[in-house]
Parts: sequence; C-alpha cells; structure tokens
Amino acid sequence: MITDSYGRSINYLRLAVTDRCNLRCTYCMPADGLNWLPHRELMTYGEMRRICALLVKMGVEKIRITGGEPFVRKDLLPFLQDISRIGGLRELTLTTNGLLTAPFVPELKKMGITTVNLSLDTLDRDRFIRISRRDALDKALKTLDALLTHDIAVKINAVVMENSNTDDIIPLVQLTKTLPVSVRFIEEMPFNGGARTISLRWNYLRILAHIRDHFPGLQKIADSPHATAYGYHIPGHKGDIGVIAAYTRSFCGSCNRIRITPTGMVRTCLYEAGSFNLKQAMRNGCTDDDLQGLLAAAILKKPKDGWQAQDMLVAQKLEQQSMATIGG
Ligand code: SAM
Ligand code: SF4
Repeated sequence: MITDSYGRSINYLRLAVTDRCNLRCTYCMPADGLNWLPHRELMTYGEMRRICALLVKMGVEKIRITGGEPFVRKDLLPFLQDISRIGGLRELTLTTNGLLTAPFVPELKKMGITTVNLSLDTLDRDRFIRISRRDALDKALKTLDALLTHDIAVKINAVVMENSNTDDIIPLVQLTKTLPVSVRFIEEMPFNGGARTISLRWNYLRILAHIRDHFPGLQKIADSPHATAYGYHIPGHKGDIGVIAAYTRSFCGSCNRIRITPTGMVRTCLYEAGSFNLKQAMRNGCTDDDLQGLLAAAILKKPKDGWQAQDMLVAQKLEQQSMATIGG
C-alpha cells in the first residue's frame, strides 16, 4: 500500500487516455476545442498497461478511465479488456459523455465493469446544445438506457452553472424517482482551457438548499470513506443524489487518488501542475523498479489539499488548463 506524508493510502488511479473530445462543453474547453496533442505525445496503450499493472502492484485497487472522451481514442475496447485482466485490480470503471458508448455496453458488462459515470448536465435538448455545443442529447440518453438495461450502475455527473442549467437541477433529481441512478451535482471548477471565468454562485450548499426547498424530506445517507459526493436520498425514490464540493474542496483529507494525464504526467492533486512525466521516464529506459521509486516519491509529496496545491502554482492561471487534458 502506498501512502503519502499525511498518512493517506493511495489506491485509486484516474487515467486519461486522450485529450480529444466529440463535445465542446463550455465549462471544459473553448468552442473551437484545444490544441490537441499530437499522437506521439500520448502514452501508448502498452505504456499505459505497464503503468496500471505497476500501480496495482503498489496497492491501487480501482482504475477509472477518462479523458477527453475515452471512446474517441481508437481501439479503446481491447485496452479496457486488457486492463480488466490485471490481477489484483478490484474495480475498473470509466467516465464518458455517452455519445459513442452505447454499442460497447454489452462488452463493458462482460469484462466486469459494474459502474459507469455518465456526464449529463441537462435533460433539455436546447440546453444540451448550448452547454456542449453539439446536438447529441439523444445519444447520451441511449447510453443511459443501455447501461441500465445491462444492469450497470450509473452515476450521472452534472456540472452546475449559474445562468445555464440551474433549471435542470430539479428535473435531474426527479430522474431518481423512477430510475436507480445516482445523480451527482458538481461545483464548477476553473479548468476550461481559457473558455470562461467561473463564478461559484452555485456552491454545493446552495445546490443542496435548492433541492431541499423542493424535496423537504431529503435524507442524508452514509458516504463511503473516500467519497467525494455527499449522498442524499428522497424517500420513495429508486435512486440517490449527491453533491460534489469540487471547488470548495472539503474532501481532500480523505483523498485516495492520483491522476495520470494523456501525456503521462503524474498529478497527485487535480489542482497541482504535475510532478513528473512517466512517458518520458519509460522512453528513457527506466526499469519497473525505477518507475515505482518515482511514483512513490511523487505520492509522498502529494499536497495536503487542493488549496495548498493551488498556492504552489500562484503564477499559473488554472483556467488555461482544461479538464480534458487533466482527466476529470
Ligand atoms: N468526456 C468524458 C465526460 O465528459 O464524461 C470524460 C472526461 S470529463 C473531463 C470528466 C468529468 O469532468 C465530466 O463529468 C465533466 O462534467 C467534468 N468536468 C469537466 N470540466 C469541469 C469543470 N470545469 N468543472 C467541474 N467538472 C468538470
Ligand atoms: Fe468533452 Fe467531457 Fe470535456 Fe465535455 S467534459 S468537453 S464531454 S471532455
């Protein structure tokens, strides 16, 4: 088990396999996209497989594949199958916008994936177009349907933005009445590739108060030890809801995760610049022992919380980064 200097055990890896995406969400990137990374700058599937296996040996039990949109990268499915067979890995999961995902759902089920996070900020077609700059709500909903049909648990991620989708909070909560889904409302974070300046008028407390106004019977439910969402349930509903204080950063004390970006940069905190580049280390001929040493040293320096990480980067404008290049 690898631990950081604050005694937190790290057993969860979030691996971004690409920065490219078929949506252009306003909170994530500018309308004309990002300066996409050239293919040679991405880690190969073989390199990512090597790192995943090493980290599992070091104590990682859960891997989330993310991006960019993971399914935009060619041949994702065989890679997922390969990762799912790493001995000692307890959970493989992914975060997707759902546009290309539906046809792969039976295979995801077969390889043992039991939960998928689906990003869905609105159930209204016009607002979906305004937020994601693409007319694709039907495709995301098809994936939701396919996941539920195949008995894969779904966590819906909705980023809440002032003057954009706050009218969607209650309709999204109402989804939990008939569907066994967990709808999680996320505070907007300042990672949008320079697309906008954020105003955190809708923090998790306000989101929660808004939901409670409509559903006074809202009940707190137990959260798992490393959960980032505060979970709630409405009596009589099949699903649950959650609020994620992603900007407020109230959950850093129990953080158990590290991130690896599509270029192989290790980020022990979402709000840090990155400690070292694994792809470079591998291409320079590092052995597995060298890589384990580098990873353990980086984890030891994991910042206490996202505020400390941000302070270390005072000169860097967070908004210039995009969640698609970090791996949300
Ligand atoms: N493309 C996939 C998707 O959207 O599900 C996976 C990558 S996306 C970067 C991962 C998650 O980060 C999504 O749920 C998205 O809503 C969230 N996200 C992106 N930018 C964000 C921001 N600025 N603030 C909060 N969440 C953000
Ligand atoms: Fe693409 Fe996901 Fe970013 Fe939206 S949040 S632009 S779907 S990477």
